[in-house]
Amino acid sequence: MTPVAAATPTGLDVEAVRRDFPALHQQVHGRPLVYLDNAATTQRPRQVIGEIVRFYEQDNANIHRGVHLLSERATKLYEGAREKVRAALNATLAREIIFVRGTTEAINLVAQTFGRANLGPGDEILVSAMEHHSDIVPWQMICQERGAALRVIPVDDRGDLILEELERLLSPRVKLAAVVHVSNALGTVNPIRQITALARAHGVPVLVDGAQAMAHMAVDVRELDVDFYAFSAHKMCGPTGVGVLYGKSHLLETMPPWQGGGDMIRSVTFEKTTYNTLPHRFEAGTPDIAGVIGLGAAIDYLHGIGLSRIAAHEDAVLAHGLAALSEIPGLRLIGTPRRRAGVISFVLDGIHPHDIGTILDREGIAIRTGHHCAQPVMQRFGIPATARASLALYSTREELDALARGLRRVLEVFA
Ligand code: PMP
Repeated sequence: MTPVAAATPTGLDVEAVRRDFPALHQQVHGRPLVYLDNAATTQRPRQVIGEIVRFYEQDNANIHRGVHLLSERATKLYEGAREKVRAALNATLAREIIFVRGTTEAINLVAQTFGRANLGPGDEILVSAMEHHSDIVPWQMICQERGAALRVIPVDDRGDLILEELERLLSPRVKLAAVVHVSNALGTVNPIRQITALARAHGVPVLVDGAQAMAHMAVDVRELDVDFYAFSAHKMCGPTGVGVLYGKSHLLETMPPWQGGGDMIRSVTFEKTTYNTLPHRFEAGTPDIAGVIGLGAAIDYLHGIGLSRIAAHEDAVLAHGLAALSEIPGLRLIGTPRRRAGVISFVLDGIHPHDIGTILDREGIAIRTGHHCAQPVMQRFGIPATARASLALYSTREELDALARGLRRVLEVFA
């Protein structure tokens, strides 16, 4: 690969950023790794890995229960991470931040608590046609249990939500609308502020799946006026097994607890248990303490660089990549939305996406192939699967050039 210019026009020193990520510097099948599967999971910088190791080596103890010094330190770090998340989201209160296992668990929590408390026969939940399975199946499950119905906001041929259809679907029967911020299958960046304004006019709360947004753009839950926002640490340079549910306090306060156990109670007798206050009411049992601290370190890392600088860099690399791919014969983009983040889904005439992925792997290029846990949107576009390249802050133009070269190689193999 040709060396990358130190300072890109967007002001992000991508070579310096890449030096922070040990996993990027390796050979795969004898070729330098080109990691373009960031929508599945990003790599982690030394700063995050180091903080997790440091915690285990120096501060490891359980939280919220010990009187001893290590437990105090661990609790301080854990609650400090909550404050970092609050600040990153510009949420009003730290107790609006609930630590969970990831986006999937965050959405299940809302479905099982808010959904169970508020849904009855004839009620409706709205989801968009481009949702990840984790923002479909939990709603299907609770709708089935409560006799409610799931309604779908359709997408157009470009992969944009049809907002007029959303307006048409909004009614007093709708108890919640769930939409993805950035589609992992199409790259679409949904106009969340417009969606929440429409929903608000009908008194409908909005849950946003932010799994693909948090590492790529500044997210302000108050400016977006979302009621719930869910994301996973591992898609934003943090560890696996940790994520966040943000909820407006007035909604979280009214939601019944979900999992019962330690930490979520105030007092327990066999006759009656009283529950803890927010956020602990929704954090039963010992959480992934090191993971939460690692998430805090990931936020420090990304915000230290600056989300607007990261977004500008990724936009520039994306534009370069889209131009390079437009020259590949027989390549068709799946999703050409008005506003796109660093996700490029495509098919090649007559070649199965899995074959594309396998041949690219031999070239050292890691992409994702399949339905991306979004089978309904694949059906919408009449295909079973796509190949998907997805970017992160450390992605370079040269990597997208390598992808284009790799795709020409795929065409040669199938010629
Ligand atoms: N939503 C979207 C848009 C995603 O891309 C993903 C992960 N592919 C998820 C939800 C689920 O995230 P997790 O597996 O971390 O819970």
